[in-house]
Amino acid sequence: MSADDSCIFCQIVQGKIPAKPVFETDTVFAFSDLSPQAPTHILAIHKRHSAQFAHSDDTLLAELFSGVRTLAETLELKDYRLVVNNGEQAGQSVFHLHVHVLSGRSFQWPPG
Ligand code: AMP
Repeated sequence: MSADDSCIFCQIVQGKIPAKPVFETDTVFAFSDLSPQAPTHILAIHKRHSAQFAHSDDTLLAELFSGVRTLAETLELKDYRLVVNNGEQAGQSVFHLHVHVLSGRSFQWPPG
């Protein structure tokens, strides 16, 4: 899998930065968010580096979202919210595409 050595999520996949892993496949890695916003707050990433949703190829997106569905089934999450922040103004702070998987409480709509 291609990695960006300066990317913290690539370093988590490589085991260079500690994380709490919760799920893994050949292509997808998922770990607990450092600053949880819900009782369950998981970050799911593709092992191949891609900075953001808008610039990700179809294969990567399909593998990532398929992995997220399998993660939710495996962890028996019933209701959950998926969040992808695309770009700084949308709240993206780490530029390795990730899906926030939030569960365990009620969520408001519209989001803030
Ligand atoms: P975003 O703002 O959508 O880019 O989300 C980045 C998320 O990564 C935030 O929710 C952070 O709490 C989380 N985060 C940053 N560094 C780490 C880390 N080392 N381990 C786990 N989560 C992290």
